[in-house]
Amino acid sequence: MNLLKDKVAIVTGAGSGIGRSVALLYAMEGAKVVVSDIQEADGLETVDLIREKGGEAIFFKADVSNAQDNEKLVAETIVKYGALHIACNNAGIGGASAPTGEYPVESWDKVIAVNLSGVFYGMRYQIPEMIKAGGGAIVNMASILGSVGFANSPAYVAAKHGVVGLTKNIALEYAMKGIRANAVGPAFIQTPLLKDMGPDAIDWLITRHPIGRLGQPEEVAELVLWLSSEKASFVTGSYYPVDGGYLAQ
Ligand code: NAP
Repeated sequence: MNLLKDKVAIVTGAGSGIGRSVALLYAMEGAKVVVSDIQEADGLETVDLIREKGGEAIFFKADVSNAQDNEKLVAETIVKYGALHIACNNAGIGGASAPTGEYPVESWDKVIAVNLSGVFYGMRYQIPEMIKAGGGAIVNMASILGSVGFANSPAYVAAKHGVVGLTKNIALEYAMKGIRANAVGPAFIQTPLLKDMGPDAIDWLITRHPIGRLGQPEEVAELVLWLSSEKASFVTGSYYPVDGGYLAQ
């Protein structure tokens, strides 16, 4: 119940899916949570859910693909709660589905902006505040597609591989300053991100998971919580799948 007592955490993309589950779990473990999302109504709903359960949270609207929004998000966190100890850089989008030779350039630019630059911008402003706080924990939301390919998703796969590499770099650069950084690699998780997939596509996806089903956002949040907590005090610079056996094949 108190794994994150007295900690202040930012979660991006916390209005839905995995980010909402992470924000809820952080709050239930005692953190003060800054719930951020591009979707204001959804983010406010997450804050309501946290408060209904007795947790502490505020909402701050930010587009992670905008560097200034990330700077303002961190600044607001300091104004409201006085410090920053934990960040889950989770916001992400799927992008178009097409082979690389036909991939829409606009979709490439957008997916890289949100899923890769968004993680860099976040950490760019989070890290100085974590140093001031004497250390911190960063968990970046990659994917199983941060370590293997997936035909017709070149931008997503490239961005998530980039997130894994960037996470390793942060770990090397800031280990001696008390900041740990790890990446998480969910397989396919039942969230609104999969809403455009038809039942046949979902059935096929399920066959790719040896465990015989897709994951739930709460199952990803448990791993994120552990990595964010002092229980993972010797864990940095790594990539952790949470994938129902997907990568074991
Ligand atoms: P989700 O349910 O769609 O939630 C993502 C949230 O982030 C949504 O509220 C979304 O708003 C928001 N968002 C989108 N672009 C944003 C931006 N530029 N700035 C701030 N917020 C933004 O998705 P999810 O499945 O929970 O995914 C969360 C993360 O897990 C993503 O990084 C995703 O790539 C990763 N992941 C998901 C799966 C999966 O199968 N679900 C698997 C592996 C990894 P909109 O509704 O407007 O998009």
